[in-house]
Amino acid sequence: MRVAQIGSGTPEIAVVAGIHGDEPCGVRAVERLLDERPTVERPVKLIVANEEALKRRVRFVDEDLNRAFPGDPNAETHESRLAHELVGELEGCLTFSMHSTQSHAEPFAIVNGVSETATEIVPQLPVTALVETSNFAEGRLFSSIETIEVECGMQGSETAAQNADRLTRAFLTAVGALPGDTVCRELPIYRLTNVIRKQDADTYEVFVENFTEVESGDPFAAADGNEQVAEEPFYPVLMSPNGYRDVFGYAAEKVDVLSSPPTAD
Ligand SMILES: [Zn+2]
Repeated sequence: MRVAQIGSGTPEIAVVAGIHGDEPCGVRAVERLLDERPTVERPVKLIVANEEALKRRVRFVDEDLNRAFPGDPNAETHESRLAHELVGELEGCLTFSMHSTQSHAEPFAIVNGVSETATEIVPQLPVTALVETSNFAEGRLFSSIETIEVECGMQGSETAAQNADRLTRAFLTAVGALPGDTVCRELPIYRLTNVIRKQDADTYEVFVENFTEVESGDPFAAADGNEQVAEEPFYPVLMSPNGYRDVFGYAAEKVDVLSSPPTAD
């Protein structure tokens, strides 16, 4: 794990990249901040988390780090020990953590619950949606540390790296670390309701678009040609044929629209 800081004092804000070793976009954003060392109005902690997995260009070494929190210093797995160390570093910091996907090109934010902080910060980020994980947060960073996760785009793409950079700067501006103004957006909120499992098969297909409603009775995915049909309408989130080992993704409901409250100057 690489830990650095810009600005002096004890940071209450952190930017984390490389939770997954095959998602390099965030690492580039962090490295750029370290190269440029912008003048900050609040100190910021910068972390590249799973260096070992990044070196090997794999999602993880022993287990998924974003399912391993809070971790254990005496665990057998690299990621469980790393999760424990990372929680120690991030204690007391509002954390911004960058990911990328195999399912959706447009950036979106993921939070454990729509807290006051999320309501204030997320509409100021260049994202198109807010996803609330509610019951599906177990083992993820935001179950241990107050965290706003962002999906920056398609894994390994140049666009995801550029988005990571823009998202990080917008986050640091929204929390008052970088000077300037942000643009506020109205964002749809989706709440995850179900995990969509996939059977063991040789080929997987997904027939639907993420964040676009699937009607009851519509086929939405297939494993070796066996179609899965929606029993009730849902919004697919993080759905892709080969993104995860045993799930296609998640079903969500659209719950609300979030817009940042007007700030009093
Ligand atoms: Zn990730």
